[in-house]
Amino acid sequence: MTKSFSQILSKLCPADLEREIKTVTPDQVGSLLQRDRIRPQDVPLLFSPAAAEFLEQMSVRSAEVTRRRFGRTISIYAPLYLSNHCINSCTYCGFAKERDIPRRSLSIEQACQQAEHLIEQGVRQLLLVTGEAKHIYGLDDLCRLAEKLRPRLAGLSIEVFPCQQDEYQRLIDSGVDGLVLYQETYDAKSYAQLHPHGPKRDFNKRLAAIEAGGRVGFRTLGIGSLLGLTPSSLEICFLAWHCEFLTRQFPESRLAVSFPRLRPVSGGAKLKHPLSDRQLAQYVVGMRLLFPDAELVISTRESAGLRDRLLHFGVTRISAGSRTSPGAYGQEIQTEEGQFETDDCRSVDEVSQAIRLAGYDPVFKDFDPAFMCSRESQ
Ligand code: SF4
Repeated sequence: MTKSFSQILSKLCPADLEREIKTVTPDQVGSLLQRDRIRPQDVPLLFSPAAAEFLEQMSVRSAEVTRRRFGRTISIYAPLYLSNHCINSCTYCGFAKERDIPRRSLSIEQACQQAEHLIEQGVRQLLLVTGEAKHIYGLDDLCRLAEKLRPRLAGLSIEVFPCQQDEYQRLIDSGVDGLVLYQETYDAKSYAQLHPHGPKRDFNKRLAAIEAGGRVGFRTLGIGSLLGLTPSSLEICFLAWHCEFLTRQFPESRLAVSFPRLRPVSGGAKLKHPLSDRQLAQYVVGMRLLFPDAELVISTRESAGLRDRLLHFGVTRISAGSRTSPGAYGQEIQTEEGQFETDDCRSVDEVSQAIRLAGYDPVFKDFDPAFMCSRESQ
């Protein structure tokens, strides 16, 4: 029987990995980069401090690989927050149940209006986001909304509560094609501290949910770690091994890897393990060298300047014009507290112009369905 990733992860020792990463030498990294193929066992070398010296060399290779697989295209999406009700207590999140914020769930009509606002700006790929409060905003609501929105869109993903396999199937049948589910941290001990109450406390259940999504055949599986909560070089290694597991188990699904850095939330978790822009760039190029076909995603958590620079490092998908509270599109300023503070506040149009200026084409459609049809008919 195939092992789950939680079984694989339980055999990995963070202390051993930390020792291994620290003792990597520049010579080891240099000879790794001479090789055509980088393997999963090379992950600690790639994300080690020693590899930081090779960032320029790695980024040239990453840019070449990216151009070969994706051309000069950057796809644009926007999150659509549907509900900030949540029964979890994630210490880093603005929607945690203890936070005293106005709570709101959008009706189908309100959500469609918000979507129209984004569609008018050209966005055709949406990410539907909710907290975890299924009694207030649940599966039926998501399916109804997906059915309404799907004909207007090229891609529809969800970042919501974990579901069972049959529930994911219902979402696919309603038109959802992408599943995003961050593990937040792969360190079970830290995970328990960061998730003191609520169903999200179950570390293995969360890991199992993305596998359930793979089994029902979501076209895209999106994962990521919330960087800054734990030592990031370890976290990124575990994330890479999770990517490797998912690509092996579910080769029909495209992998999308995100690199969210912890952003301020009033009274929220502190950035205990800050990482520099250069480290973030190293993680992006390292992932590209390991996974040439993966979408690499950078959200508006990061500054405009950094996002523009990362376009040259292997990123293929970015959000634009994002608001992180339900009903916030169409308002001049974000009046309510969002899930987290965004840094890049440019409009969709401004982000598109920056992409063109950098020598890439902003893509609002999703070419995958056309590509798959042509493959099937061959
Ligand atoms: S991260 Fe998600 S589950 Fe946790 S409190 Fe925020 S909305 Fe709820």
